[in-house]
Amino acid sequence: MSDDDLPDQDDSPAERKMRFLFQLRSRGVTDPRVLSVMERIDRGIFIRGQFADRAYEDTPLPIPCGQTISQPSVVGLMTQALNPRPRDTVLEVGTGSGYQAAVLAGLCRRVYTVDRHRRLVQESEAIFQKLGLSNITAQVADGSRGLPDQSPFDRILVTAAAEDPPGPLLAQLKIGGIMVVPVGQSDAVQTLIRVTRTDTGFDYDELRQVRFVPLVEGLGQT
Ligand code: SAH
Repeated sequence: MSDDDLPDQDDSPAERKMRFLFQLRSRGVTDPRVLSVMERIDRGIFIRGQFADRAYEDTPLPIPCGQTISQPSVVGLMTQALNPRPRDTVLEVGTGSGYQAAVLAGLCRRVYTVDRHRRLVQESEAIFQKLGLSNITAQVADGSRGLPDQSPFDRILVTAAAEDPPGPLLAQLKIGGIMVVPVGQSDAVQTLIRVTRTDTGFDYDELRQVRFVPLVEGLGQT
């Protein structure tokens, strides 16, 4: 019997999950709450088509409308930096596949997530419903303006790169609130920053280099 005839143990769902979690830990995702939610939420559900079999690799992948689902370790590191608490209301800008919103939903009271592409919002909503994630509200909106009607927010996570942290988002953050946002030119490496609103202003921390699709103003065609 050659090796080719042996069942591929590495491809069992349990092995795949172990490898997925190992990759997260080895890239610095250490918060046990974040790891446990990421263990529970199956990234494979959020990716369809030819890339579905790569869902458990630590790599960004294409999704419809020319966008990308972020690399799992980056999702973990951003979530950890955001430090969402159980009673928090969180705004995510850039629903994309819905994966990051689903991770946040396991850690806080309510998640508002917006995308400029209707198709991405609709497909994500269908997944949230299927998974029974009833604490996520997804809507089509230009997230660079935030979501004034639901503001202020305890936490804001931006998953597209802005040149600077958008003013309306800073204004919609509670005092003591945290925003995590990649900043920089859209076609270059960007810096992930954490902004904390204090009584008197904003504190900025640089976290790491990242690469995200750009934050684009206005609504998409699809
Ligand atoms: N968080 C996503 C990945 C997001 S990719 C996930 O977990 O899969 C970035 C997303 O930001 C894209 O879907 C893009 O359409 C969206 N986006 C870009 N500019 C935006 C804007 N001004 N308002 C809302 N969404 C925006």
